[in-house]
Amino acid sequence: MTYESYTGMSREVLLEKVQSVMSDKRFRHVLGVERAAQELAELHNYDVEKAGLAGLLHDYAKEVADADFLALIDKYDLDPDLKNWNNNIWHGVVGIYKIQEDLGISDPEILRSIERHTIGAVDMTTLEKIVYVADYIEHNRNFPGVDEARVIAQASLDKAVAYETAHTVAFLASKAQPIYPKTIETYNAYVHCLHED
Ligand code: GDP
Ligand code: FE
Ligand code: FE
Repeated sequence: MTYESYTGMSREVLLEKVQSVMSDKRFRHVLGVERAAQELAELHNYDVEKAGLAGLLHDYAKEVADADFLALIDKYDLDPDLKNWNNNIWHGVVGIYKIQEDLGISDPEILRSIERHTIGAVDMTTLEKIVYVADYIEHNRNFPGVDEARVIAQASLDKAVAYETAHTVAFLASKAQPIYPKTIETYNAYVHCLHED
């Protein structure tokens, strides 16, 4: 299946739409995630087109205003606790409603991979792992540990999910930031992978 078969739009039209809602830096990031997701899909025997499309769209809602996210939480009757969080959590979990409204994409697996791309889940599908990990290792990323994450991702998506989550949890704790409960659940579900060869 092509991008057009999921969205009714060619990649070119989709790129214009995505570019129009974000900064140039973020657009370069989503193009990087598209490519990284395609590469991970190829490597781990997943649908390359589907992974690329999910990667391209994963941060579509990142620059949506807080007031608009709060309105979407009401409009779609989402968990009211979401209102205690912020853009970091909203752009995935609430962002999928904006994506459906703006782009008319309805594939549930793609939407769920975007919904969970920041926080993960205890029961991630291959596509969810690909988007979660591609977001972390795409070629524009440059932070201590990213090269190790890239090497791990070649060998094992599960281990890469564990590595990324452990580092995110440690990073947030070091900055005295709150950690979303689902992020902790993801950490607990995957951390054992770091002790396996
Ligand atoms: P990005 O959208 O490409 O920047 O990457 P992500 O969607 O993975 O993460 C967005 C931001 O959310 C990053 O700054 C993460 O550190 C932060 N983040 C990830 N998980 C959590 C969490 O559980 N709680 C909080 N407060 N922030 C988180
Ligand atoms: Fe994101
Ligand atoms: Fe991202």
